[in-house]
Amino acid sequence: MTDGSRVAIPAAEPTELRADRMSRKSSAPEIDRLIQLLARMPGLGPRSARKAALTLLKRRVELLEPLAAAMTEAAAKISACPDCGNLDTVSPCTICRDERRDRSLIVVVEEIGDLWALERAGVIRGVYHVLGGHLSPLDGIGPDRLNIPRLIDRARPPAVSEVLLALNATVEGQTTAHYLKDLLVANGVSVSTLQQGVPVGGELDYLDEGTLAAAVRSRRAL
Ligand SMILES: [Zn+2]
Repeated sequence: MTDGSRVAIPAAEPTELRADRMSRKSSAPEIDRLIQLLARMPGLGPRSARKAALTLLKRRVELLEPLAAAMTEAAAKISACPDCGNLDTVSPCTICRDERRDRSLIVVVEEIGDLWALERAGVIRGVYHVLGGHLSPLDGIGPDRLNIPRLIDRARPPAVSEVLLALNATVEGQTTAHYLKDLLVANGVSVSTLQQGVPVGGELDYLDEGTLAAAVRSRRAL
């Protein structure tokens, strides 16, 4: 076989050739690593990760370098609040330290994104408790995998009188709410849940602030 005969590419490319072509790297290992890490972000697949990496590399001064510095700073300074599970540079977090907050009301959320959504809506006068997810037996997530023991420990009269379960209106969120309700009622606190405006299957992080505010104001006993 001469080199010239290789020019004609067969209609059906042999598997080994195709594999060789796919594994061939066209960029530096540092760029590949950047793309691989970006591809792990929620909502970013390999294609979006490549686009994001390219944007970062092309806009080095205004994007790549400030982002790298912000990430290094966040990794060094931010930690989970030992009381509520919120992320902050101070411990306990700024919300837990705020003297104007009503400590008798604990608002329970699944994720920190939900806490941020409620803070944007500006309707919570109490403090928070972040569970770190919801119960999901099929995925092996039981009560021991969530920040539940600390909640049961915190939510006791007379310091705490009400726990508002601001969980997503999904099957998992509501299953988690009912599980928590029994434990909290046994503690002697009143338990409430978000009412109107949260659609079935709704995740708090996706709701607009007005809807969230209405849901908090019209909370009902569970
Ligand atoms: Zn806190």
